[in-house]
Amino acid sequence: MLELDKDTCVGCQMCVKVCPHAVFEMHEKKAVIAHADRCIECGACQLNCRYDAIKVTKGVGCLTVIIRQDILKMKPEKCTCCCD
Ligand code: SF4
Ligand code: SF4
Repeated sequence: MLELDKDTCVGCQMCVKVCPHAVFEMHEKKAVIAHADRCIECGACQLNCRYDAIKVTKGVGCLTVIIRQDILKMKPEKCTCCCD
């Protein structure tokens, strides 16, 4: 599960840069979770947010991605990770 505290976010864009599946977008100088369905719960965004605005709880994200990509052969848009 992925959560973002809008009030804590300072808009540094680090989460946008580090997320391998382009889950975040910037809206009005704040990060928003634009594509939650792409999240694989890797934790990179939480680790790199200096302001503790993001919380990632391990759930079924990886399984969802495996089903979408490996079984249904769906690829996330703008994916920049090594699975391409
Ligand atoms: S890394 Fe944290 S503070 Fe920076 S834009 Fe993302 S949520 Fe906001
Ligand atoms: S946990 Fe990983 S895939 Fe999910 S939003 Fe954060 S960086 Fe992106």
